[in-house]
Amino acid sequence: MNWLQQIMKVGGPIKVTPDLVELADLVTDRLLEGIDENGEPLEYGGCIADKYLPIPYSGHRIIVVLQRPDQKQKEENIHGNAETPTWWQMNEQRRPTSELGSSSAGCHVNLYYELPIKAWRYDIRQVVLHEIIHCIDPKLNQEELLNTKWHEKHRQTMDRPGYQGSPEYYTAPWEQDAYISSTIYEMVQMWHRNGVSYNRAMEEIRSYPPQRTFEKEYAKNPQLWQRYMKHLYKVVQEVYQAEVVA
Ligand SMILES: [Zn+2]
Repeated sequence: MNWLQQIMKVGGPIKVTPDLVELADLVTDRLLEGIDENGEPLEYGGCIADKYLPIPYSGHRIIVVLQRPDQKQKEENIHGNAETPTWWQMNEQRRPTSELGSSSAGCHVNLYYELPIKAWRYDIRQVVLHEIIHCIDPKLNQEELLNTKWHEKHRQTMDRPGYQGSPEYYTAPWEQDAYISSTIYEMVQMWHRNGVSYNRAMEEIRSYPPQRTFEKEYAKNPQLWQRYMKHLYKVVQEVYQAEVVA
């Protein structure tokens, strides 16, 4: 079996679709412009976007809020070396909203970039995508799953100090989806924008070195690394489709 056949054997993560990119772009634009949902100057606590994502997504609202930088979260992320300065939160009240169907939950995406935001546009979009993926991930949103032993097992370490950035954090099933999908989406888009050829992109995959903290964690587990590489391969095929066909 060659390297390509090997990586094609494992299942893929949640796909970054144009709808999700559209929402992430909207959030990024508003952050960079410093405006809220209503076009007013953005303040801490302000709503950046409030959007309903229909089935086949989660079927509930995604509410993106700019939060004041939280010292505890910051320290956790610095100490834990986590790469996302954002966090995801399920709405505590699962409110039934008649116009959206029964018992539709809202998901909060909290961003705590300090104003004014100086980050590179695509870095912001990547972390926003990471959190949006959590919002639509059935593993975090299906009530039947939340009560299972499987879920409990992966959740039990979450409140432990130092969880952020630990091997358990990076390899949690939902973090795998969020890291793999958002990172690969932005990486391949960047290659394409910068004129990296299809052949060069394929060469990159063949000898891709783990660089980011989560990549180094995934590289320790051959199956997880294959999952990462398979998704990278698939996204390269999609993005470079026109050139592959030509
Ligand atoms: Zn995450």
